[in-house]
Formats: sequence, C-alpha cells, structure tokens
Amino acid sequence: MCSVQDDDMPLKRPEKDESFGRLCMKCKEEPAVLITRVNDAFCRGCFQVYVTHKFRAAIGKTKLVRDGEHVLVAFSGGPSSSALLSLIQEGLSQRAHKKLRFKPGLIFIDEGATVGLCAAERLAICEKVQSVMTNSGFPCYIKSLEEAFELMPENEGKSTGNIHTVSTEINNSADCNSSQADSSASVSGPHSSTSPAFRDGDSSIESVRTEDIKSNYQINVNLEQRLKETIDSMKSVSAREDFICSLRHKILLDVARHCGYSKVMLGSCGTQLAVRLLTDISTGRGAHAAMETAFADRRLKDIMFLRPMRDFSSKEVAMYNSFHNVETIFIPSLTTKAETNVSIEHLTESFVTGLQADYPSTVSNIMRTGEKLDSSTEKKVDEKCAMCQAPLDTSVGVSSALSAVEFSQKISQGCIEGDNSSKTVECCGEGDGSCQSTAQNSPDQKEVLSSLCYACRLTVRDMDDVNKLPLYVLGDVAWRSKRSNMKKEIEDFLLQDV
Ligand SMILES: [Zn+2]
Ligand SMILES: [Zn+2]
Repeated sequence: MCSVQDDDMPLKRPEKDESFGRLCMKCKEEPAVLITRVNDAFCRGCFQVYVTHKFRAAIGKTKLVRDGEHVLVAFSGGPSSSALLSLIQEGLSQRAHKKLRFKPGLIFIDEGATVGLCAAERLAICEKVQSVMTNSGFPCYIKSLEEAFELMPENEGKSTGNIHTVSTEINNSADCNSSQADSSASVSGPHSSTSPAFRDGDSSIESVRTEDIKSNYQINVNLEQRLKETIDSMKSVSAREDFICSLRHKILLDVARHCGYSKVMLGSCGTQLAVRLLTDISTGRGAHAAMETAFADRRLKDIMFLRPMRDFSSKEVAMYNSFHNVETIFIPSLTTKAETNVSIEHLTESFVTGLQADYPSTVSNIMRTGEKLDSSTEKKVDEKCAMCQAPLDTSVGVSSALSAVEFSQKISQGCIEGDNSSKTVECCGEGDGSCQSTAQNSPDQKEVLSSLCYACRLTVRDMDDVNKLPLYVLGDVAWRSKRSNMKKEIEDFLLQDV
C-alpha cells in the first residue's frame, strides 16, 4: 500500500515549536533533519526512501511508460529538472530496487537570446549544461529557442509558401551512447576553437551534437534577430513568457518526433505547476489549465508530455538536491531580478510561494483542485490552436464572454459594419488562374487570430505585426485559410450531413 500519497489537508499553519529535536516519524530512531508536507519530520535516510518511492509511484501507477520506451527528458539546469535527472539515473542503476526500464535522452533548450545574452555567455551556459548532461551517460541534444522559427507547421506536407525544411540529423540513441566517452573528454580537454562560428543567411537548422559543442554550437544570427524582434514587438512580459513557452513546447515536440521519442518528461515540480495553474486561469488559458498541469498531457496523438515531479514541492526538490549534492545551473530568465508585478506569472509565483510559506498545504490543495478539471478532450487537427496545439476553446455561443470582447474590440476599432472575411484571392500569375491564390500570401491578423485559442489570441494581439510569428504558425494559418476557402468554393456540391 502506498503510504506517501498526499491527502487533502486542511489549510492550517504548522505548529512552529514542534520542529526542533524531533525524531523521524518513519523509523522513530534517527533525529529528524527536515519537515516536509504539513508537519512530517524525516531523517535523511527515510527522506531518501520517501522521495524515491514517490517518484517511482508517479511513473508506475499510471503505467504510461513502457519498458524500453524512448523518453525525451527536458533538462533546463534548474533545481527541479536536475533532481529529475538524478532520480532517473538512480532509478535506472543496477542497485535500484524496482528498476526503471525506459530509455531516456536529454534535451536542453538555450534561451539566452530572449534575455539578450551574448554568444560567449550562451556558449558558457551550454558548456556547463553539456558537462552535466554527458556525465549522465544518456544521449543528449542542445537546441536554441530561435530554431523554432524555422520549424514546419504540423500539416507540413500540405503547407505552401517558403518554409524551409528542418534538418533531422539528430544523432539517435545508439550513436549517442557510443560517443559519450569522447564527449566528456572534449569538454575538459583543451580545444582550439572557443567561440561559436556564426552563420549568416543560412537557414538550415542543424542540431548540435553535444560532444563537439565548442566548435559546432552555431548561433544563427538571422533567427536570433527574428526571435528578438518578435519578443520586442510584444508589449507585456506576460505575453512574452507565454510566447517563449509555446516555442519551447514546439522544439520539444519537434526533437521528440524526429528522434523517435514517444514521450517527453518535463521537470516541473508541484510548486511550479500550482503557479502555472493559477497563471493559466488568469491569462485566459483556463480551458487548458488541467492539461498544462496534469501528470500526462495528451493533447497530441503521437507524443505525450509527462510531469513526474508534480508531486514534489520546491522545498522537497531543494532538500533532495542538497542531500545528494545535485549540481544545478543558474540561467537567467525574463523575470530574473524583475519586480514582483512585472508579469502575471511572476506575480502568481510570489503569491503562491508566499502563501505556501505560512500554509504548507497550499500547493497540494491547488494541485488537487486542478486534478478535478477535465483534460481528456481530444479533437482533430483543425480544431487545435496553431500556436500551442491545445484544443481550440473559441467555438462558443454568440452570448459568450469571448464574443462580447470581440464585439467591443470591433466597436473600438470602428469597423462593425459587415464581415470583411471574404477577402478576394487572386491568381499567383503562374498558371491559368485555377489556383486562386497569391504567390506570397501572408495572413492578416484576423486570419491568424481565427486559428488561435483564446489565450494565444491575447498574446498575438499584443504584437504589432503578426508576420513576425514563426513559420510553423503562419504556415498552419495559411493552410487553414486555404482549406476554408476551398471548402467555401465547393460547398454547394458537398453532401449534407443528415
Ligand atoms: Zn528515519
Ligand atoms: Zn493556443
């Protein structure tokens, strides 16, 4: 019987004086070294057993990860994903009681461009991360966030326009494993080239084989510039954070698809997910809040996102890292050193962590509430958001809040008369006119917005030019609008549903 399940706990302050000189509540022999949950005192040894058991239980009870399955582990270098990596390593080791049997691969996404780090700073971070990742002995990949700008839309086969093909030359597991020895050697050993080679104008994306990062980690200046411009074009930090999150999601998805991984493990701990849940509700992403925080995110048919650390609080993660000397890497983000109210997420974080300090069951209560929300809806591609791939939550009635917001926006823009969606399309000039399309037809804001979920609409509305969005979004929008135009043309000849 599993004894580490958190139960619904009343929101109460802990009795302060009880924490000193207590014995471990499990073995009742050793002196306790930490208090976890509301008031559970653990000694070092029992805390280790508790953490390991909780992690295994999270993976084991859902039976989602099969033996031998390739699982991509998102590694950010932060405390939570470092703890995840350590727990996976320990679970896969021979001495583990119930051995984990999946095959992990690690991915790090370099987001240095979003906070204006220079190439040398970005390389230094990548090197640190690389040394941790290669020490684990698992296959590993390093991608930069701006590479998302050249990814193809999901319906790539049918998409049109000048979308570049993404190179899928990412080394797979066997290759990676065999190269581990060289990789760690090249980091510690002397290397002639210490600065990254820049490529200008070259649009192809190559993933970086981590063993030769120093000589091969190339920052595509064009893409970096586009990322910066897009982020700068958004006025609020909340919109920027949301957009960065969707790019990150897209890269994880792309690497998982191209490298044969069927699951992606995220390192978010319970505290982060509780913040996520409240942030999602505050930013209009309430329809997806359950999906964003559940153990398994099933929004896509082929790749499932898992959150095995969701039962851990950030305090438990910090204690685990401290007891096991787990190395974490500090990487600045958009809100590092920023004021509390700089973004909705940052404000929510300070609210939740502040409440958690006084009321230790805050996080678990938020998570329990989140679990009661439904996340099982699977819809077909046409009904997914082009940016975050979540089901579209915008097909609501005329008297909905969404319609009211749209109506008031129309009024404020002074364009309530008539629907101008019937945009005339002309021939590209290359044929007999039957294609009914312009050659480089870039979608307008209205078209883009119609393919996005409510929260992504808010993000995009914050931008001054929708054409700064990545190709996978624009390509998807163009494909959808082409399809709907085509459907309009042949509507009269279609059989009606009875
Ligand atoms: Zn004990
Ligand atoms: Zn969306």
